[in-house]
Amino acid sequence: HPALYVVATPIGHLDDISMRATRVLQGVNVCCAEDTRHSKRLLDHLNARPKLVSLHEHNERDRTGFILSLLRDDQSVALISDAGTPLISDPGYHLVKAVAEAGYTVHPIPGPSAVITALSVSGLPTDRWVFEGFLPAKTGARQKRLQTLARDTRTLVFYESSHRILDSLNDMKTVFGSERPITLARELTKTFETVLRGTLEEVVAQVESDSNQQKGEFVLVVGGTTDEPEDFGLDPRKLAETLGPLMP
Ligand code: SAM
Repeated sequence: HPALYVVATPIGHLDDISMRATRVLQGVNVCCAEDTRHSKRLLDHLNARPKLVSLHEHNERDRTGFILSLLRDDQSVALISDAGTPLISDPGYHLVKAVAEAGYTVHPIPGPSAVITALSVSGLPTDRWVFEGFLPAKTGARQKRLQTLARDTRTLVFYESSHRILDSLNDMKTVFGSERPITLARELTKTFETVLRGTLEEVVAQVESDSNQQKGEFVLVVGGTTDEPEDFGLDPRKLAETLGPLMP
C-alpha cells in the first residue's frame, strides 16, 4: 500500500531501534534520509535495502513532489533522520503536511527522541514542560528568547551543540538567575553519557572547569520559575470602585 512511515531511529545506542522500525525499513521501497551515507550504515546493519533518497532542510520542498509521485505509483516510503524522531528539530514537516493533504496515510513508528529521553532522567517536573529546540545563535537574540521564558512555570527543554554550550549556559545563568535548577544531559545512550544536576551556578562551574563536559550533544532541562506571579498593583476593591460607575 502507498503510505509514508515516519520512523524513529536511535540517538546513539543502536540497540534502541525497535522491532517494528526494523521491519518497516526492511519492507519499504524508498527511504528518505538526511544524510544518505550516514543512514546507509544503519540500514546495512538492519539488513534493510530500500532505495535511499536524500531529504534535508535545503531540498525538502523540491523533494516533496517526487515523493508524492512515488506514492501515486503505489510505492511505500519511509522517512528517517540522522538520529531520533524525524521532525523534532529535524526535517520532514513540509513532507508530512503535503502527504497528509494529498490524502495518503502517514504512519508514525515511534522510538527514541533526545527530548523525552532527557526529561525521563532529569529529576525535574515533567507534568508540564515546553520544548524550545535550539536557541538563536547570537547572544542578543538568545537572551531575548530566554527573557520571554523567564516567568514560565513549566519545565523548559532546549537542544544545544558543543559549539554554543558554554555561551547558552552563561546566558541562562544571567537571565534565569544562578539558583535556577538545571539538568544537563550529554551524549545520552552513548559511551560518555553524563547527566549533571544542580543549580545553574553549580552546573556552569562544572562545565567550565572540565573541557570534556563541553563535548558532544546536549539536552538542557531547566526548572520553571517558582517566583510568585508579578503583582501589577491592581487592588480588586479599588478596581471595582473605579469601574463600578462605568458599568451599565
Ligand atoms: N530528531 C532528534 C531527536 O528526536 O531528538 C534531534 C535532532 S537535532 C538536529 C540534534 C540535537 O538533539 C543535538 O544537538 C542535541 O541537542 C540533541 N541530541 C541528539 N542526540 C542526543 C544524545 N544522544 N544526547 C544528548 N542530546 C542529543
